[in-house]
Amino acid sequence: MSPLTDSLLTALKARVCSSTSDTYTTTEVFTGGELAALPRSSVGDVHTAYELALRAQRQWAERPPRDRLAVFHRFHSLLLRERETVADLLQAETGKARRDAVEELSEPALVTSYYLRKAPGLLRPRKRAALVPGAITVRELRQPKGVVGIISPWNYPFALSFGDLIPALIAGNGVVLKPDSQTALSPLFGAELLYRAGLPDGLLQVVLGDGPTIGGAVVDTCDYIGFTGSSRTGALIAARAGERLVGCSLELGGKNPMIVLDDADIAATARSAVRGCFANSGQLCLSVERIYVPDAIFDRFADAFVAEIGRLRQGPGYGYGADLGSLTSRRALKTVSEHVDDARAKGATVLAGGRPRPDLGPYFYEPTVLTDVTPDMVCHRAETFGPVVSLYPYRDEDEAVALANDTEFGLNASVQGRDLARAARVAARIRAGTANVNDGYASAFGSTDAPMGGMGASGLGRRHGADGLLRYTEVRTVAVKRVEVLNPPRWLPHAVFSRLLATSLRVLKALRLR
Ligand code: NAD
Repeated sequence: MSPLTDSLLTALKARVCSSTSDTYTTTEVFTGGELAALPRSSVGDVHTAYELALRAQRQWAERPPRDRLAVFHRFHSLLLRERETVADLLQAETGKARRDAVEELSEPALVTSYYLRKAPGLLRPRKRAALVPGAITVRELRQPKGVVGIISPWNYPFALSFGDLIPALIAGNGVVLKPDSQTALSPLFGAELLYRAGLPDGLLQVVLGDGPTIGGAVVDTCDYIGFTGSSRTGALIAARAGERLVGCSLELGGKNPMIVLDDADIAATARSAVRGCFANSGQLCLSVERIYVPDAIFDRFADAFVAEIGRLRQGPGYGYGADLGSLTSRRALKTVSEHVDDARAKGATVLAGGRPRPDLGPYFYEPTVLTDVTPDMVCHRAETFGPVVSLYPYRDEDEAVALANDTEFGLNASVQGRDLARAARVAARIRAGTANVNDGYASAFGSTDAPMGGMGASGLGRRHGADGLLRYTEVRTVAVKRVEVLNPPRWLPHAVFSRLLATSLRVLKALRLR
């Protein structure tokens, strides 16, 4: 039964910036029934949202960072206090297992506490070495962009909205958030919590509607775009933002490899791979979709992995009874089924799973392991974004690295082995924004002090760390000339001044001053 009460739904609907009477309905994923009727925004509403956020932002940016941070101290407490409601909403609109919903909550909590500690230092003006020491002083200033547009996907709708918009607000910006239409309730509840924590009226706006029209209007209006979603949409957004010379960060798809080294602990690797492949039913940009295993231990690993998968409990429900939930939509189920059916038809072997489970719910699909996958099969290169992984044998370490790097994506990777120094060396050879030793994704993603993002078709820019905050700022330089040293005095011939200039450039370099 849906956990959404009438009073909560009324409060959440009031958070949508919409002037129309137009509504649409979302689905309760476990049953396929109706979850909520939500207001739809128009393009005009996106413009209004921008103006309202900008008006609030002008005063917000004037407040000292420490004063702004008080809101996020309170938000952190509220978020943890209201975690069951957030998890209920997340499960209802995505069909994910309770364990995945609770894991999702930790991202905004960790991001908030990280920037509570780090933002004052990162945002404060910095002295920079001046052209002529003593005669000139230079300071670097960080100024908010204005209003940041955040466009987020359906797979982690709460984490990928709030993990990205909290640093934008902390940096002094306003925000217009466009979540995926199906998964708007948890982001709306997050907005509600931020306002309860004392966020100034109007600073965070939420608009709802289809991607190209309403998402497109956000890209056409805001002063910076933080986008998470598919590589195809990411490229469209980059082009559109480029037309206005507005910056963007793009967190896109992946086809993430795991390399099992020959000294790996097979039982531990099988357990790690289960989480790495099937967390959130594989609808995780960081999910492992390719596992490379040495010839010599291929069969032993495959057996251990399949046995581990056999222990997973899959099913609907708002308790902790299931390890694996549903896919989120008919479209996701279609893609997953098509990838597996295509591979099977072209000769792949299905070691585990390989079928939908309509007996559990309309979009359930079993955790699936394939072998004998060849380049002509769609799932060989394309992101499946579901609970499907292919096992490939390899001869030696160089071949494993070459196979792992044979992709247009570069988001995340995993290396499994007992010799940690060797595994870390192999991890550093994989062309990906993050790589984890003896883990699928959480070690790197959860380490909020370290940057996270993709290379190649997996994106541009980084969340987390200093980059995750500073991307939402304009950096400015203010130089104060205290003594006239840049122009020769009237009595000094230019030829002499030019010789003096060359000498001082040599001296500054020799003294390693400039
Ligand atoms: P999507 O690109 O279809 O949609 C993402 C968001 O963009 C949605 O809110 C959608 O409404 C909006 N949108 C769609 N078309 C748009 C347009 N033309 N202009 C502006 N906005 C538009 O992606 P999806 O299917 O929702 O998400 C799944 C994809 O996201 C996968 O490829 C996954 O790997 C990727 N992803 C990446 C990360 C990461 O951090 N790198 C995290 C999660 C998901």
